[in-house]
Amino acid sequence: MRHFAIVGSGPAGFYTAEALEKAYGEAARIDIIDRYPVPYGLIRFGVAPDHQSLKAVSKRYDKVAECAAVDFVGNVYVGSDVSVAELLDLYDGVILATGAPHDRKLGIPGEDLPGVVGSAEFVGWYNGHPDFADLDPPLDGANAAVIGNGNVALDCARILSKTRHEFEGSDIVGHALEALERSSVKTVTILGRRGPHQIAMTPKELGELGHLEAALPIVEPGDFPPIEADEPLEPGLRKSVSLLRGFADLEANKAKRIVFDFFAKPVRIEGDGKAERIIVEKTVVDESGAARGTGETYAVPASLIVTAIGYSTSPIDHVPFEGGKFVNQGGRISDRLYAVGWARRGPSGTIGTNRPDGYEVAGLIAAAMPSGSAGDREGASGLKALLEGRGVMPTDFDDWRKIEAAETANARQGSPREKFCRPSGWFGVLGR
Ligand code: NAP
Repeated sequence: MRHFAIVGSGPAGFYTAEALEKAYGEAARIDIIDRYPVPYGLIRFGVAPDHQSLKAVSKRYDKVAECAAVDFVGNVYVGSDVSVAELLDLYDGVILATGAPHDRKLGIPGEDLPGVVGSAEFVGWYNGHPDFADLDPPLDGANAAVIGNGNVALDCARILSKTRHEFEGSDIVGHALEALERSSVKTVTILGRRGPHQIAMTPKELGELGHLEAALPIVEPGDFPPIEADEPLEPGLRKSVSLLRGFADLEANKAKRIVFDFFAKPVRIEGDGKAERIIVEKTVVDESGAARGTGETYAVPASLIVTAIGYSTSPIDHVPFEGGKFVNQGGRISDRLYAVGWARRGPSGTIGTNRPDGYEVAGLIAAAMPSGSAGDREGASGLKALLEGRGVMPTDFDDWRKIEAAETANARQGSPREKFCRPSGWFGVLGR
């Protein structure tokens, strides 16, 4: 019997568990460990609450959870409750699938002013992440800015612009829904340091902006190169650029605006004790594709500034870490220690990208420890004893199902669930 520990229960963790289960069948036990008592990581805390079709992928993970060989060990923080070295003693292989939960910093003056929040914080706030439930982003000003030209920037701008009615069918948490309904934000400026040809936004996500009830996307036609220049673009990007161009033709009298401000590099954030404006420098994109400052600056008013410029992984003691992710070769960090997903590659790609990634690493593991080969590690029983000795009470899949049922029972009308955002909610359901 082989024992594997996967640290992190987001998409990368679950695809790896699925792959290991397929490779080993009954010849392995797989424990998916998570610091939270509830599974699914990015699906629960990162994917936009109005993108329920993306969240539905968790049904596939439910199937993995039903496999006899797979267990969930929630409420266990690897790094403090148990170390990676201890897991390596107990398990034949340890796979880090810890994602990239931290915001990258802009590194400009004023970044620490109240009113400037990272997208991990902002997204966590509207998704019921316990660390950010109390974020209380300032929504009492007319202007907000989102920095970055990726899909997360789009998520943040869209959530800031939707009406209560448009959140029907989403699982946005109640505190965010109410705050957004009271919001005074009328203009959301999306700042890109480069141009329309350099966006990292995908067509489906961009297209949604054209159909919002109360908000109109606005682009400046002069920011675009001649239309022939779109021809050599990769088809997905060409479609995104074409959608962006189309925003110039939209005519509607709507109360809110989402303004695309390209060639605008953040220089500093200013305000009297809180963010009031962001100073940007106009750029040109040079031959190599990099943004070069022109020296010309201007101010964009914003009392809420969300930075959506990418994420990094949490380092773990004694695991080599560089450039925001674990140092690895093709997923292998060192003997019997592996990384998958964003912890392996950095924060790029869709949820589905993690599937081949998890299968590849499971293949490496199966090649190193063929199914049927003997192992002599203790696995789950050893972990349970160790955690008990430390007063840590893990949750399992049955606990999660109870929490899920309570969240579903608590749902507002039109919402699939009302998520518990605080440990007291989770443990209240479990009577702990
Ligand atoms: P991303 O796609 O890497 O985009 C980051 C953006 O931040 C880029 O436009 C980048 O500009 C900009 N940026 C980086 N540093 C900057 C700086 N110092 N100043 C100004 N701008 C800066 O990252 P993301 O939006 O966080 O998304 C992460 C991954 O999740 C992506 O693969 C994304 O597609 C995926 N995702 C998918 C969905 C979906 O499918 N619905 C939703 C959300 C996220 P440069 O290009 O100039 O560096």
